[in-house]
Amino acid sequence: MNDLRPPAANGTGGSHEDGAHGTYGEDLRAAGAKAAAIAAGHLAGVAGRPVWQPVPAAERAWLSDQELPEAGRPLDELLEDARTHVLPHPMGNGHPRFFGWVNSPPNPAGVLVEPLAAALNPSCAGGDHAGPHLERAVVRWLAELVGFPHPPGGGLLTSGASMATVICLAAARQRAALADGWDAREEGLSGRPPMVMYVTEEGHSCLHKAAQLLGLGARQVRTVPVDAAYRMDVGALRAMVAEDLDAGRRPFCVAGSAGTVNSGAVDPLDEIADVAAEHGLWFHVDGAYGALGILAEGASSAAPHYAGLDRADSLALDPHKWLGVPVGCGCALLRDPSAARDAFSLVPSYLIDDNAGELGWFAEYGPEQTRPFRALKTWATMSHLGRSGIVSLVNHTAGLARRLAVMVEEASDFELLAPVTTSITAFRHRPHDGDGDGDGLDALNRAIPGAVQARGNAFLTGTRLGGRDALRACFLHPDTTERDLVVLLEEIRLAAKSLRT
Ligand SMILES: *Cc1c(COP(=O)(O)O)cnc(C)c1O
Repeated sequence: MNDLRPPAANGTGGSHEDGAHGTYGEDLRAAGAKAAAIAAGHLAGVAGRPVWQPVPAAERAWLSDQELPEAGRPLDELLEDARTHVLPHPMGNGHPRFFGWVNSPPNPAGVLVEPLAAALNPSCAGGDHAGPHLERAVVRWLAELVGFPHPPGGGLLTSGASMATVICLAAARQRAALADGWDAREEGLSGRPPMVMYVTEEGHSCLHKAAQLLGLGARQVRTVPVDAAYRMDVGALRAMVAEDLDAGRRPFCVAGSAGTVNSGAVDPLDEIADVAAEHGLWFHVDGAYGALGILAEGASSAAPHYAGLDRADSLALDPHKWLGVPVGCGCALLRDPSAARDAFSLVPSYLIDDNAGELGWFAEYGPEQTRPFRALKTWATMSHLGRSGIVSLVNHTAGLARRLAVMVEEASDFELLAPVTTSITAFRHRPHDGDGDGDGLDALNRAIPGAVQARGNAFLTGTRLGGRDALRACFLHPDTTERDLVVLLEEIRLAAKSLRT
């Protein structure tokens, strides 16, 4: 027989027989304490270092070109490598002056429990253990937080909103097919009237990816025009649905945004819900980033913009965005969870669980079988903040976006490009000695993010908004201050100057 004992030669453990050691003995305890100290030290030092720097060629080679070692290496050495070769090269999103895309710093409670989830290492496909039970709680918390209806089993955690969107649109597709008397899983889509979905050009790319993956065809995803505030033009939606019905197509879904990436715009959800109700469309809301904006209070309150969110059939909401749960954790919330189960449930004999209860396994509601314990870091983050802490975080960051908008409007060399609804400010730089308007201004603003990033004092990214090159700053970090906004605008001016000389 083979010797089943783990290798002891590399110092990772000893024999089973002495109980105190084995694979997870004293070495892990000592290294674990060290890992915790490294993580805490890293996080405490982030704000004092450059936001981001390019990875030097030698370091890039160390990271990407290394070979699998023949002999296993001790834990301590691995930690030392991580400390010296990994942690010094962050993406930047832990820093209070990181304003790029939609990427938050990790909540400390989320960081703290990640090793515990790994230590337990369950598959949260289903079953009677801590993971699935805790997932029920955090999914309910998320729904309750934003006022989305929550029937038992009304959602599941995912890798992110991209996967949540696949789940929601698959549910919508199967729901429409069943309503028409056929089964999309059984038959596929061929020979049926094209199923049409509606999004604006501000809708996230994951909506398009999901539609393409589900075999709907990119051509069947209609681009609904937006108004001056980058919100869906619902009159145009109505006209497009009518036109598709006249042409014998099958409108089945409209996807609104509750917080676009470009400008943080929230579509007129209540009016969209009316159109969806009239025509029997599935109403999906992409609130991956912005759904929590409903919580903002006082001067940053945007709650009226979210009216109708509770009328959606499905909502994608990413705990790894505004909440700061460590990546990756998304959530699909469903008004009627059986729609997702109808789209995904496939239980082979080796997975039948007679004790699964009414709701069955999480794996019946989406494409993932072995599912990580995402609920633990979500539970820890949300519990650590509490409801009031979550509201404070949203207020603080939404307030910063509004403050930056005021600064931009007061400065003669900046221009605001969209109203602020959530915690994103979209604007552009118009230097006094610049090219005025048109292509020169576009080219300058397109080059600014890279130049700002390279300086290391702030990080922002750009986009195209209303046919113009734009800068956008997204606020998610609890430690960002108004002083950081002054630095950001100054960094943009300096970067622009360096680009023009
Ligand atoms: C991040 C994001 C997505 C995609 O979600 P992932 O978590 O990256 O898969 C979709 N929509 C919006 C508005 C987002 O911010």
